[in-house]
Amino acid sequence: MDTKAFYKMSYGLYIISTRYDGKDYGCVVNTLIQITSNPAQMSVAINKENYTSKMIDKAGFFTATPLTVDATMDLIGNFGFKTSKDFDKFYGWGFKRDTNGIAYLTQCTNAVFSLKVNNIVDSGTHNIYIGEVLDAMPLEGSDSLTYDYYQRIKKGTTPPKASSYNAKSGTDSSSATAPTAQTTPQKVKYVCSVCGYEYEGDPLPADFICPVCGQPASVFEKVLY
Ligand code: FE
Repeated sequence: MDTKAFYKMSYGLYIISTRYDGKDYGCVVNTLIQITSNPAQMSVAINKENYTSKMIDKAGFFTATPLTVDATMDLIGNFGFKTSKDFDKFYGWGFKRDTNGIAYLTQCTNAVFSLKVNNIVDSGTHNIYIGEVLDAMPLEGSDSLTYDYYQRIKKGTTPPKASSYNAKSGTDSSSATAPTAQTTPQKVKYVCSVCGYEYEGDPLPADFICPVCGQPASVFEKVLY
């Protein structure tokens, strides 16, 4: 199997959120699709290990917002690479609550969908949630962010728990660090192996924390270029 075929797939990027026991949870997915119009239903696949998934199981409701092209890597990293376990992902960002009381972003998005879970399909590592749309509303915002745009223009990477993650697509510094015969001085940067954030400069401070995914200096890989 040639996994490059999977890169031909097109997706959008969305934030899925829920609320349970007084706490808000959210994550970034590329798996939200509309499946029927009457009644309006959508499905979304989320990794079972993801806290947002565990809490949707309990809450029975979730909310979806498409991300737009002006979404910053800070925002995507906050929702896509950190855990909701003991961290309020909505803190510091503009948000409102939908008819179910679930938080949704009011920045870097252009619509909001409120859903009730009708069915859960066990798909191994992921659950597929099929939800009925209880409410939908377009919001002021720029164009929707596609997964292709995220990877090509924003140079974004994919976390290991994503549906489309492929180990071969992660940051590969092997070719960049291999000895070369070039005579021009090489520059050094450090690349976060979790989210792809690049730190320019040398050395990387030992107490450095990745501003996108929150991981420590130990997960960074030195790259010559
Ligand atoms: Fe990172």
